[in-house]
Amino acid sequence: MKKKQVSFKVILVGDKAVGKTSILKKYVNDEFPEKHESTWGVNLIRKEFPDGDKGKNVTFWDITSNDLFQDQRIYYYEGAEAVILVYDVTKPETFSNLERWYEEIAANLKLEKEPIFILGNKNDLDQNIPQKAIQEFTFRIEAKHFFISAKTGENVDKVFKKIINTFE
Ligand code: GDP
Ligand code: MG
Repeated sequence: MKKKQVSFKVILVGDKAVGKTSILKKYVNDEFPEKHESTWGVNLIRKEFPDGDKGKNVTFWDITSNDLFQDQRIYYYEGAEAVILVYDVTKPETFSNLERWYEEIAANLKLEKEPIFILGNKNDLDQNIPQKAIQEFTFRIEAKHFFISAKTGENVDKVFKKIINTFE
């Protein structure tokens, strides 16, 4: 009998300060740290879902966006079962840079069945990205898009539930 997979790997990428670490802290610990700490290399955050015999656990790889680490960064992508691309809704360049993040990941993962989620974070602030550009990019890379806020918690649990539910 084939053993059911219980451990899953999810990678989070996006420009510096878009809120990757804050999103994970909100989701996993329900806290929102105001201070920005830059991530060196990678932070691993594990979430367990105790659910009888079929308890799953997911490790989120919060990957640094510092260009200095470009060479080693691609090794962190290996084996990812879902991809989260994060941008800041107040900063259009963080959205347009997702193209580069996507290309880097696509060059290092086959992306045959791994779902891709695009998160427009800081939705508690004024949005500044044309809807059409968001729709076009989301459609082209066959992703799902959500607006969220790590600060208010808007959509955070809902989005992660969708991500976890893709792992069967
Ligand atoms: P990272 O570099 O992508 O990991 O970004 P951080 O999680 O360190 O967040 C960068 C800054 O943005 C910090 O000062 C956070 O407090 C702030 N921040 C993160 N998420 C939100 C949000 O949803 N709303 C607002 N207003 N600020 C946020
Ligand atoms: Mg960080």
